[in-house]
Amino acid sequence: MPEKHIPITGGCLCGEVRYEITESPIDGGCCHCDQCKRAWGGFFSAMLKFNKPAFKLSNGELKYYYLSLARRGFCNNCGAGIVFMFDEDKIWVALGTLDHPGDWPFDTKGWYGHDRVEEKVSWYEIRDGLIQNQGSTENHDDSKMCKDKD
Ligand SMILES: [Zn+2]
Ligand SMILES: [Zn+2]
Repeated sequence: MPEKHIPITGGCLCGEVRYEITESPIDGGCCHCDQCKRAWGGFFSAMLKFNKPAFKLSNGELKYYYLSLARRGFCNNCGAGIVFMFDEDKIWVALGTLDHPGDWPFDTKGWYGHDRVEEKVSWYEIRDGLIQNQGSTENHDDSKMCKDKD
């Protein structure tokens, strides 16, 4: 396994927003819910979860969009989505904004999996062998991610 880049660095498309993360991710996953599809523009979102204190902006600022219990941070200049926050002390970072996204493969050893698969694009067949969760699962803190209040 090649050496991973720590601190983890990344940023938006235009380069205005840059961040640095001092710790390895504690979780990650792909979310297939309709909100993630609209927010991130892909047919699912791919995110890594970190302890919030480990995440620092090294350049620029994030603009936030609030929806139900979550907020999403993006670059106000190029519009690239960077972070998703649901818990007070955790932050999800869009995998594709990392300078070295290949450092953190989703594998079957961790929690890494697919969430809200009941909302996935119908033609897409998940074949990576990762866990597939429908709706919310009680044993997972972030199960309510992207879920409406009511
Ligand atoms: Zn930007
Ligand atoms: Zn989602």
